[in-house]
Amino acid sequence: MIYDSHIHTEFSADSEMKIAEALAAAGTQGYGLVLTEHFDPDYPGDWVFEFSPEDYWAAYESLRGRDDDLSSGLSLGVECGMMPDHAKALRDFIARAPFDQVIGSIHILDNGDIYEKDYYQGRDKDSVFTRYYTVMAEMVRENPFIDTLAHIDYICRVAPYDNPGLEYERYHEYIDEILRALVETDTAMEINTRRFGDKAVLDELAPVYRRFRQLGGRMVTVGSDAHTPDRVGLNIRTAVDFADSMELVPVTFRNRKAVKLC
Ligand SMILES: [Zn+2]
Ligand SMILES: [Zn+2]
Repeated sequence: MIYDSHIHTEFSADSEMKIAEALAAAGTQGYGLVLTEHFDPDYPGDWVFEFSPEDYWAAYESLRGRDDDLSSGLSLGVECGMMPDHAKALRDFIARAPFDQVIGSIHILDNGDIYEKDYYQGRDKDSVFTRYYTVMAEMVRENPFIDTLAHIDYICRVAPYDNPGLEYERYHEYIDEILRALVETDTAMEINTRRFGDKAVLDELAPVYRRFRQLGGRMVTVGSDAHTPDRVGLNIRTAVDFADSMELVPVTFRNRKAVKLC
């Protein structure tokens, strides 16, 4: 069964999606789901990306799939925002419920929200992207308990430069550090399909995932990052084919164990 291993329902501050809507959207496509609600403590600005694991479990546990049986297609996960000195807070949070999958993300750089256009005022691409890559590599090492690193290309969604892409050739030394950190900590890498509407993005990402494989990486998760039902499962099949073409192994996590998609 194919899994969309990154979606948000109403336990995430920026999503109003109901669990029934998410399950219906995945069901019509024959996909399983991992809910990955936002836990991003000390988020700057007005957003509060926190939730109660106990309430989450009380609401959804009865829908959760059985251990090691991916045909029962719902896993309960979390997307943890990684910032310096937050590893303990994340560990403590994760210990409060038997999460199936923990994904680690970079949404914040030096206490600035990189989703906000203001962040880029007076900053050129070189300074922002090299900092982004450097922090990401450090956070993978500081948080080796995450199962998969989300959206390496998150910043490319919003960076207001002529070329907002990852540019592996230009930044390969920095990107390789992230990939080495993933391999050394035995962390999977996500293929996030949010930008897959533009097929040129596949060419942009290919050298990064090819290099991950070359350095010893094998496992990838695939996720749409859907916050609305119409985006659940979007381009997931394309991402699985992309992984296969790189000889990477698409997996999802159930009870914190990697299980191959089939
Ligand atoms: Zn994210
Ligand atoms: Zn997300």
